Amino acid sequence: MKTFIEKIKDAGVVGAGGAGFPTHIKINNKADVIIANGAECEPLLRVDRQVMEKYPDKLVKGLDTVMQITGAKRGVICLKKKYEKAVEALDAIVKREKNIELHLIDDFYPAGDEVQMVYEVTGKVVAPGALPISVGAIVSNVGTLVNICDAVSGIPVTERIVTVTGEVRNPVTLKVPVGTSFEQVVKLASGPEDTHGFSLIIGGPAMGRVENDWTEVVTKTTGGVIVLPESHRVIVKKTAPLDRDYRLAKSVCSQCSFCTQLCPRNVLGLNVQPHKVMRAVGYSNTEAIGDINAVFSCCDCGLCTFYSCDMDLSPGRMVTTVKQALTAKGIKPDKTIPYEVSQMRDYKKVPSGRFIERLGLSVYNLEAPLRDEPVKVDRVRIPLKQHIGAPTVPTVKKGDKVKKGTLIGTVDGDAVGANIHASINGVVYEITDHHIEIRA
Ligand code: SF4
Ligand code: SF4
Repeated sequence: MKTFIEKIKDAGVVGAGGAGFPTHIKINNKADVIIANGAECEPLLRVDRQVMEKYPDKLVKGLDTVMQITGAKRGVICLKKKYEKAVEALDAIVKREKNIELHLIDDFYPAGDEVQMVYEVTGKVVAPGALPISVGAIVSNVGTLVNICDAVSGIPVTERIVTVTGEVRNPVTLKVPVGTSFEQVVKLASGPEDTHGFSLIIGGPAMGRVENDWTEVVTKTTGGVIVLPESHRVIVKKTAPLDRDYRLAKSVCSQCSFCTQLCPRNVLGLNVQPHKVMRAVGYSNTEAIGDINAVFSCCDCGLCTFYSCDMDLSPGRMVTTVKQALTAKGIKPDKTIPYEVSQMRDYKKVPSGRFIERLGLSVYNLEAPLRDEPVKVDRVRIPLKQHIGAPTVPTVKKGDKVKKGTLIGTVDGDAVGANIHASINGVVYEITDHHIEIRA
């Protein structure tokens, strides 16, 4: 009989919250507490709260499974107080569970950052470059836990729940086969017929990427497809040439340090100081960066860039650039925590509504109801790499007939990676280095 871990590996479960780390590896650990992350702090997305409302039983079963695997004695579902329907649905089930509890938090950004969440639940701070398991915690997105519940029953990951919003007439949250194109999902939300002048953000507006190829597809980690005019502030800032941001950093930054004062990782005592990175750029003096070790603690939340800086600069992008340069040089963080958590932390939490306003997204901050019936599509292009690690190796060939759930790609031995499965019934039409296309 297969173990839970083997079943989860077979089903191709990866982190649904965005990063896509293979779950069978992440949870193959001893832990004290498992935290189900239901905060969903990225503006406009409506996936996790509806997953919690719709599938509370599966979520709790998935959480219980991970607790059994890791030996954790405590399971916590952490979500915002304002998700009242989800709280109600989960409360009824959790009351029957001895070791599982709800932890309700305020509506602030970035509440879903796992380091913030670990602190909210355990009072412990995760050191620079370390994982939550270093303080005995594993954080798993609520969608991942639902997929774990299915995996244990032998159901692989073939669908993805995704919010489609922005410049569309009917914002909606859809269950679509993995590999469905963005143009198809935008059409289902009555998006623009002429896509000229619009761009997509894949994921959330703060941390997601800009995509202009609408034939690209939904993967196991896609939580949002957001249509915005290409002149929108968020698109312009995300696509500005790096040179321009450097020039502005040199000429405009007033060193007011608001970016540092509101940085949520700085507030936790991790000493991330974006204003010093801006100073280093301004003076072309790397010494001015300050605590190089602390740069690794930046979580790319974008708060400094989209909220804190009154001069409309991009300090977050500068920190990310320095972090990437240090990583490329093989420099690793020293896992120490320099300061205590700020006593001002609660006062420095940025309310989500104000963040959305500052992003210029209030007009799009609408409900996007879940359509639970899976969308039917006649073709899918399933990427071989939807996860952290090595790409999947195809196990089918052109012309093979497949059914929804058929294994079509697998990982070599113990390599970091995840299986992929057909997401519709059909025939393998094309196999490339990048994807497997199936036509119904
Ligand atoms: S980047 Fe903006 S917020 Fe940060 S120090 Fe410079 S002007 Fe102030
Ligand atoms: S993006 Fe900015 S605010 Fe967010 S953690 Fe990094 S430095 Fe801090």
